[in-house]
Amino acid sequence: MKIGLIGLGIMGKPMAKNMLKAGCDLTVSDLNKAAVEEVVAAGAKTTSNKEIGETCDVVMTMLPNSPHVKSVMLTPETGVVNYMKAGQVFIDMSSINPVASKEIAAALAEKGVEMLDAPVSGGEPKAIDGTLSFMVGGKQEIFDRYQPLLETMSASVVRCGEVGAGNTTKLANQIIVACNIQAIAEAFTLAQKAGVDPELVFQAIKGGLAGSTVMNAKGPMMMEGNDKPGFKIDLHIKDLNNALDCAHTVGAPVPMTAEVQEILQWLHNNGCGQNDHSAIAKYYEHLTGIKIGR
Ligand code: NAD
Repeated sequence: MKIGLIGLGIMGKPMAKNMLKAGCDLTVSDLNKAAVEEVVAAGAKTTSNKEIGETCDVVMTMLPNSPHVKSVMLTPETGVVNYMKAGQVFIDMSSINPVASKEIAAALAEKGVEMLDAPVSGGEPKAIDGTLSFMVGGKQEIFDRYQPLLETMSASVVRCGEVGAGNTTKLANQIIVACNIQAIAEAFTLAQKAGVDPELVFQAIKGGLAGSTVMNAKGPMMMEGNDKPGFKIDLHIKDLNNALDCAHTVGAPVPMTAEVQEILQWLHNNGCGQNDHSAIAKYYEHLTGIKIGR
């Protein structure tokens, strides 16, 4: 099976290397020539997006957002779909708007090309370790055929429904993470203003109902003032924009998402876009003049 991967950024590059380690026949492309050279040195071939579309059984993408995936795949005359034929499969691993996933799938279906939307959670360390979590949308039989390929990069692969379900699940994940970080920052701020050490609050409650993976990862970062990403504020803004857009399309109320998005936007406007999303704490520090835990 010939695999083509377009997009070798923070995530795509280590994911490509893990496919190569698993023995995949992989051809790659990216606008960034240094990234391409690094993956070719690890055993991949490289060619144009056109030839990837013409020659690969499965075309994969790992690009920033919906407009990039639409542009690479659907641009009239030059988009990859123009070179694909019935029987080939497209797997988009980017985190994009599920509404866009469905539009792309519909355009591909006209040519007899099936699609899975398969975004990941886990970030760069898990992309390197090959322990990402895939959340996948698409037909069961296509999922069954390509699950082993996704397993070369991951610890978990779950089919969540038809096309778009993967990215809908990813948006749910991003809403829960952002709101959880905001709740932790707000609660730690309250504790400190009331004269209680947030570190002791954390120690006392982390094993109870309020405890979470998010609290264990982000609580200590807030108290250390450590904003090294991790997951960047600007990427989270992108995901929550997609969540708001999707929510407005399907008529889902998302007031908490709207509020935390405003905070993230304030942080972006104040030079924190490249900080870890735990820097939501800085918004509360700005309002109160305290430094949480310090
Ligand atoms: P990135 O910006 O590091 O990489 C994107 C790559 O796409 C770049 O190398 C860029 O050159 C390439 N690219 C853009 N347009 C292109 C085109 N027209 N043709 C060929 N290549 C093109 O992004 P990333 O961090 O690797 O993220 C990719 C996706 O994974 C995003 O949707 C992101 O939200 C998601 N994601 C990221 C993380 C993370 O921690 N970084 C975690 C989970 C999911």
